[in-house]
Amino acid sequence: MLKKLFQSFRSPLRKPQQHVRTTPEVLSGSQHSLQRNQFSRYAVNIVERLQTAGYQAYLVGGCVRDMMLGITPKDFDVATSATPEQIRAEFRNARIIGRRFKLVHIHFGREIIEVATFRANHPIDDEDEDSNQSSRNESGRILRDNVYGTLEDDAQRRDFTINALYYDPVTERVLDYANGVHDIRNRLIRLIGDPQQRYKEDPVRMLRAVRFAAKLDFGIEKHSATPIRPLAPMLRDIPSARLFEEVLKLFLSGYAEATFEMLVDLELFEPLFPASSKALEYNPTYTHTLISEALANTDLRIKQNKPVTPAFLFAALLWPALPARVLRLQERGMPPIPAMQEAAHELITEQCQRIAIPKRFTMPIREIWDMQERLPRRSGKRADLLLENPRFRAGYDFLLLRESAGEETEGLGEWWTDYQDANDSGRRDMIRDLGNKPDATGQGPRKRRRSSSGKRKRAGVDGAE
Ligand code: ATP
Ligand code: MG
Repeated sequence: MLKKLFQSFRSPLRKPQQHVRTTPEVLSGSQHSLQRNQFSRYAVNIVERLQTAGYQAYLVGGCVRDMMLGITPKDFDVATSATPEQIRAEFRNARIIGRRFKLVHIHFGREIIEVATFRANHPIDDEDEDSNQSSRNESGRILRDNVYGTLEDDAQRRDFTINALYYDPVTERVLDYANGVHDIRNRLIRLIGDPQQRYKEDPVRMLRAVRFAAKLDFGIEKHSATPIRPLAPMLRDIPSARLFEEVLKLFLSGYAEATFEMLVDLELFEPLFPASSKALEYNPTYTHTLISEALANTDLRIKQNKPVTPAFLFAALLWPALPARVLRLQERGMPPIPAMQEAAHELITEQCQRIAIPKRFTMPIREIWDMQERLPRRSGKRADLLLENPRFRAGYDFLLLRESAGEETEGLGEWWTDYQDANDSGRRDMIRDLGNKPDATGQGPRKRRRSSSGKRKRAGVDGAE
C-alpha cells in the first residue's frame, strides 16, 4: 500500500524525456540518397501491397540505416499498421512467428522479409504494471513487450535514433522521428529517450550499442555511453539463451576485434565472460593477445566468406581462464590430466550459466582443448592417428593461436606444419627423430639433420634444448 503510494509520487519523475517528435522530419526524394530500386523488390512489393490494402507500411531499421551509409543490408524489415493476422490475410506466403513478440515472415524463395506491426513502448505508469501484454521487473526491465501502437509509438520504442528511420518506397520519402539522419551524418550511436531508462528496460541495448558502433565505425554519443559502465552488471540477469544469440552477433559479424576492445573498455565483457575477464586482469598481455588474435582471425575468415565455428571462438575466449583452475586442482593433489579435464568441465559449466552455449558447441570446445594435450604426444602411430582425427585441424589452428599469443610450445606448431607437408618417408624420419629428444613427450629436434648440427635457428626449437 505504502509502496504503491510512494511509487505514484515517483511516477512523474520517471517519465522518459521525449526525444521523439510527434511530427517527423520528412525528407523528400531529393533530400536523401536512397533509391527504391536499391531495396529488395520483394520488400518494396510488400510495402506497396499493404498500402494498397489501406495500411501504413514502411521499410525500417537496419536496412534504411545501412543503405544511407552505403552498406549492403543484411535483411529488409517492414513495419506496418496491419496486425499479424491482417498481414497474413494479404499474403499467402506469410507465416506468423515469434514468442517474445509476434512477427510475420513472408517467404519469396530463399528470401524472407520480416514484417512487424507497429509497437508501442512499454507504458511506464504503474497502473499498467499488471497488464497482460507487457510487464517489467523491479529493475525496470521489460519482460514481455507485445503492445501494438501507432507509427509514432513505433519510432519511440526503437533503440537508437539511426534505427528509427522509415522509408516509404512509394513516395520515396524518409520519415525521421528522432534526428537519426543527423546522427548518421555525425556517425553517432544515440539512444532514443533517456539512456539510463532505456538500458534498464533492456540491458541488451548496451551490447547493441557496441555492436553497431563497431560495425559502422561510429562513436557512442556521450550521454548514451556514460550509463553503460554502472549498468553493465544488469546483463547478469538476462536469460542466458538470449545472451548466446547476442554474443554470436557480436563476434560473428565481421567486427569482433573492435567489438571486444569496446566491450572491455565499457566493462561489458565481465558480465558476459567473468572467468576470462579475471584472466585479463592477472595475465593481461597473453589473454588479450590470444583473444584478439582469435577474433581478428574470425573477422578475416568472414571477410573471405570462409566458414567460422562458434566452438573455436568460445574455445579461445575461455582458454586463458583454464591454467589458474588447473593449477588450483593440482594443488589439491589432482594429477595434471584429470585436473585439466575437471577444470575444463567446471569452466564450461560456469560459463553456460551466463551464456547458454548449446551442447553442439560445448563438445567441440572440449575436443579442441583435449587436442592441446594430445598434440605434443606424437610417437609411434600417434601422430598419424591424430591427423585422422576430425578435430585435428581445429586443434592445430588453436595450437598456432596459442603460439602467436606467446605461449612456449617448443616449436610444436611448426613440427605439425612440417609433418602435414612431409611425404611418408619424411614423416617416418620425423617420428624417428622424436625418439632422440630429451623427454618422452615428443618435443625436441624437428629434423635429425638439424639436431645433429646443433644450429637450430627458430626460437621455438631453441627452447627445447
Ligand atoms: P542488423 O540486422 O544489421 O544487425 P538491425 O538494426 O536491423 O541491424 P535488428 O536486431 O535486426 O537490428 O533489429 C531490427 C530493428 O528493431 C532495429 O533497427 C531496432 O529499430 C529495433 N530493435 C531491435 N532490438 C531492439 C531492442 N532491444 N530495443 C529496441 N529496439 C530494438
Ligand atoms: Mg535486421
